[in-house]
Amino acid sequence: MGLKSLREENLIKPSRVLFLMLTDKELKKKFKAIASAEPDKYYATTVLKSEGFLRKHCPSCEKHFWTVHKDQKVCGDAACRGGIDIFDGVPVKKKLSFIETWLGFKKFFEARGYKAINRYPVISRWNPTTYFTNASIAAFQPYVISGESDPPAKKLVIPQFCLRFGDVDNVGVTGSHCTGFVMIGQHVFVEPKEWSQAELFKDIYDYITKEVGIPKEELTLHEDSWAGGGNFGPCMEFFSRGVELFNQVYMMFEHSDHGDKELKLKVLDMGLGMERVAWFSQGAPTIYDAAFPEVIGKLKKKLGVHFDEKLYRKFAPLATKLNFDETDDVEAQWKAIAKEIGVNEAVLKSKILPMTALYSVAEHSRALLFAITDGGLPSNVGGYYNLRVIFRRAMDFIEQFKWDVNLADVCEWHAEELKPVYPELKNNMEEVKKILAVEKEKYLQSRKKGAQIVEQLLKSKKEVSTEKLIELYDSQGISPDQVKAEAAKQGLKVEVPENFYALVAAKHEGGEQKTQTTEIQGISGVKNLNRFSTKKEVELDLKGLPSTDALYYGSYDYVDFEAKVLNIINDKHVVLDRTAFYPTSGGQLHDKGWIGKDEVVDIFKQGNIIVHMMKEKPKFKEQETVPCKVDFDTRLQLTQHHTSAHIINGVARKLLGNHIWQAGASKGLDKARLDITHYESLTAEETAAIEKAANQVIEMNLPVFKSIMPRSEAEAKYGFVLYQGGAVPGRNIRVVSIEGLDVEACGGTHLNLTGEAKIIKILKTSKLQDGIVRIEFTAGNAAAKTMDADSDVISHACALLGVDKKHLPCRTEELFEKWKKSCKLAKSGAKPSHEELCALELTRKDEYQDDVLTKLAEILKTQPEHVVKTITRFLKELEENKKKLR
Ligand SMILES: [Zn+2]
Ligand SMILES: [Zn+2]
Repeated sequence: MGLKSLREENLIKPSRVLFLMLTDKELKKKFKAIASAEPDKYYATTVLKSEGFLRKHCPSCEKHFWTVHKDQKVCGDAACRGGIDIFDGVPVKKKLSFIETWLGFKKFFEARGYKAINRYPVISRWNPTTYFTNASIAAFQPYVISGESDPPAKKLVIPQFCLRFGDVDNVGVTGSHCTGFVMIGQHVFVEPKEWSQAELFKDIYDYITKEVGIPKEELTLHEDSWAGGGNFGPCMEFFSRGVELFNQVYMMFEHSDHGDKELKLKVLDMGLGMERVAWFSQGAPTIYDAAFPEVIGKLKKKLGVHFDEKLYRKFAPLATKLNFDETDDVEAQWKAIAKEIGVNEAVLKSKILPMTALYSVAEHSRALLFAITDGGLPSNVGGYYNLRVIFRRAMDFIEQFKWDVNLADVCEWHAEELKPVYPELKNNMEEVKKILAVEKEKYLQSRKKGAQIVEQLLKSKKEVSTEKLIELYDSQGISPDQVKAEAAKQGLKVEVPENFYALVAAKHEGGEQKTQTTEIQGISGVKNLNRFSTKKEVELDLKGLPSTDALYYGSYDYVDFEAKVLNIINDKHVVLDRTAFYPTSGGQLHDKGWIGKDEVVDIFKQGNIIVHMMKEKPKFKEQETVPCKVDFDTRLQLTQHHTSAHIINGVARKLLGNHIWQAGASKGLDKARLDITHYESLTAEETAAIEKAANQVIEMNLPVFKSIMPRSEAEAKYGFVLYQGGAVPGRNIRVVSIEGLDVEACGGTHLNLTGEAKIIKILKTSKLQDGIVRIEFTAGNAAAKTMDADSDVISHACALLGVDKKHLPCRTEELFEKWKKSCKLAKSGAKPSHEELCALELTRKDEYQDDVLTKLAEILKTQPEHVVKTITRFLKELEENKKKLR
């Protein structure tokens, strides 16, 4: 369908340059011209015509549209028809509450053979390109769309909660913008022969006219086109009373450097804004009143904000004028609105601003509730920064109006109100509360620090640029309103751009790709196991060589094998037809060993080919079959470290909560490390608890299952927790699971039983950056070695302080305090009394049960290996100070 005419339009020309130069925007424009030239080919015009619709052209925006009114001149867009018109009654059968909107949609489509599925997480771990699920179709990107993974059903509907942060500054103000919203999806994934555009169109057309009950006289449909990620196709937008209700997109074509063609898998992408449809049907003053009336009601009552509904009804239709995207001068728009309503501008603002602030607090809480429940942490890391932005924007409003309300409580109200569709939100409330409490603490601290910094800044500078404001917000967490208020105290004026938070978000999005500090661990089917290259300085010419058959996905003790030498490059790089040598990848260091009698010192992947680097020019020849041996001790140690990383990850998640995700990992010979997402540093007690629980897992000797399975099956069985190490490509993924503890898509070598790790010893933990904690550890023999070294440190420390091991933490703490005190006294030059001098003696002997060395390092604010040195220094200085003071 349509292929021929595309070719005629030069879209599908074998000229590659032309295709590569087309952006999605250009593609969309070009295809729109093609589609509107032949509407019957690309839109469900038979249905429209049979319903009595006529095709027209809008002189204002140049779009083609469909209406049943012969005399309708312009399209249904608010800009063309002169605003929206839903506040004095709307043309629907009945008012739909937010929850009813989904329930009605679900029932209607289930009756037509669609499967209703649960929402996906808003944190899109399965997608390598984005942090957040920003549309219902994003649940199926990229692997379902690309055909690498099967969809949960061929025809489905989904109430997908989504996050988008581009309009943060408009939230609360325009009455219609959200950062978090539900997009109800009607999605179909079928082969061209099963595709019936007319039927898919009829389904949604019937829904809106029969279920919601908007008469066709009240609908205007726009022809448009869509392009994204190299796919494109026609789409049809549904408008009523100036409000865009939804858009039905038909993804039918693929744009690539081999030319454009029909997609093998055709995709229907209809996304309906659930808040928007509820709002429309209710004719509510704002989208917030329509979507979460209970929360708004509770907030109004608690905060005592007076709602001048009459005024708001007048203001609401005009509020879109305040959209920061569409106006350069918001102040002028306020003036214009005040004039139009006929009230004093100051009065208007004093009444409206507390309402918009209240709406923002409610809206941001709901977005945070979903994000945190799904394992997102507000932080400075990548896209998660946006969560901090909305948290702080909400807090700034609370501070500004001196409101007595806790965001965690607002989240709980939302969870209650959303229970009929999203019962999972209530289950994780304790963790959400804890995370919000920590985030609030960080907010208050940075505010306090901020006051001093701003004071200093204003002393030296009379003008504060937007760049400086962004820098202050970014590095110190100082909000622009705080700068403004501080400046006002000194009689200075600071200009804050209206789209400030969008500017901040843009800065973060521009510079940072979605990166975990992590390995790529997945693999993609047995034939295509080595699709990830290891980064190497050398780029070898491997043209014509077949993919290496990797043998290391079986048992880790498979170390003796025979292989044929395919190629020897530069006298030292050897390629075999098959190999059990593990190349550096997935954060796991490469093996060592021998090919024939020659030593292998490095192994890496280039494309699908595994390259062995020899110590010296090998004695064997190309085409020879040679016996190979992986050094088992090295392999065992690396494998112990890798499986232990999975154990620690699982244990940390159990002990600390669902927000724990692997943010990176590396497994070497001497030690390994695991980076986890966590909102604060680990205490010595938490570290000890993790170590203890990890060793219990070893004691339980649980099996470690490894299997290669289709992605869709793995996701259905385990959920997205699979993608601990980041998203992985491929139709098939290798799943490593320790039942009841940890499951990951992972390509590394693994033990068969947890007991084979022997012992896990955590060396140290540190805050890598805000929101990420690094755990360094050893397992197996390496752990035994570190434990010997540790016990040396402890016995040395016991000798220095003259106490038993169990008294060490207490005595060390005392040493630290009294050393500090003695320094202070010595510096002051005062002559201390006899009692004061006696008080500097070390006497305390409380007992400590957990890991002593970790505790000592924490007390002394140093690394475990520096504990003896630090105690020695403090003791010496304490003695010197005492001498001076006597
Ligand atoms: Zn128009
Ligand atoms: Zn792994």
